[in-house]
Amino acid sequence: MSEKSIKGSTAAIHAAMPRKDAYGALAMPVYHCCAYEFPDHKSMIDSFTGVSDDPDYSRVTNPTVIHFENIIKTLTGASEVVAFTSGMAAISAAIMAVASAGCRIVTSRHLFGNTYLLLTSTLARFGVETVLVDLTDLDAVRAAVNDRTACIYLETVTNPQMEVADLRALADIAHAAGVPLIADTTMVPFIFTDCRALGVDVEILSSTKYLSGGATSLGGLVVDYGTFPGIGRALRKDLLMNLGGYMTPHAAYMQTLGLETLPARYDVQERNAMAVARALHSMSGQYPIEVCYPGLEDNKYHEVATRQFGGHYGAMLTLSLPSEEACYRFIDALQLVRRATNLFDNRTLAIHPASTIFGTIDAATRRQMDVSDRLIRLSIGLEDADDVIADLTRAIRAALA
Ligand code: PLP
Repeated sequence: MSEKSIKGSTAAIHAAMPRKDAYGALAMPVYHCCAYEFPDHKSMIDSFTGVSDDPDYSRVTNPTVIHFENIIKTLTGASEVVAFTSGMAAISAAIMAVASAGCRIVTSRHLFGNTYLLLTSTLARFGVETVLVDLTDLDAVRAAVNDRTACIYLETVTNPQMEVADLRALADIAHAAGVPLIADTTMVPFIFTDCRALGVDVEILSSTKYLSGGATSLGGLVVDYGTFPGIGRALRKDLLMNLGGYMTPHAAYMQTLGLETLPARYDVQERNAMAVARALHSMSGQYPIEVCYPGLEDNKYHEVATRQFGGHYGAMLTLSLPSEEACYRFIDALQLVRRATNLFDNRTLAIHPASTIFGTIDAATRRQMDVSDRLIRLSIGLEDADDVIADLTRAIRAALA
């Protein structure tokens, strides 16, 4: 049976190693080395010129990282997968693979804070223009795309606004303009959804999140489906080589293990998130709170999320309280849930994004980005959902007292 014909969870666990291990190791060993020795000058030239896939230097190729990349390739059917040291490194590389001075990136105000700053501040200094539009308003997107546009970029579930745009419709606009749709799919990873079938050309994930196996390591992935020739080569031969930022072998080892347990962990976290969302939603009749989770039937993105992600909604949700002060009282009252950033840790985490992740962005811009001062972001973990609900309920009562 070919690896492509077996389901994601099986393929992730039984991925073949690139070469037979000398000791028959069951898991891919960590090749914690920088350089590799060659038997002669010919094999050295072949490696450096890409004639052979023998590794030469671990900034650009490492057996443990390659093994991780190859598994993702098998699972997604992508033509190129490159693993980076963090999600932000992967996002930077993917955008730099398509952008150049004078070009325009069409995206949303609803973005993870550092992605927003990368586009509007860091890349702006190199002459890349970023236009922020409502990606759920297709006419606005069409109007924003011009002949300088390099790509349409979005998060499939935005962090922390929880917006879900229509990927097929955006892909059609991008493709009509001859540019790729690049999507950060961190919230619903490729094992659970087929973004390529919806028209996504390049996927980016912060593998620090679900894939890492419970916050074991930082990492980022660019998954290129090869629909726009040149992106894959630019990623590996240009951006990886010239900027550095390759995933470390240790992180690749941890994330290969994380990938093996991803379907099981995701299933429990998602069920817990749904239980928490329902519990908070039922409390909203009694208390002045609001919960936002696309898995809830009355959420405004429920229909599009269900259609696109096949019933998967991830384990991030948000809770709105009556004031910023109530949010701080809520955070301080938590006993089980941890006060921490990150998503999809094994533990449930809570953060007040406006004062932390978005704390260096001015209040007016935060408002434009819909990062409300009254918003708490929750990442639901693997605990017993009843224990999490009890802690959140206690903290809500303390916040509203
Ligand atoms: N993309 C999304 C949606 C995120 O939530 C984050 C981090 O929280 C990132 C990218 C950045 O990932 P990393 O922290 O691995 O650089």
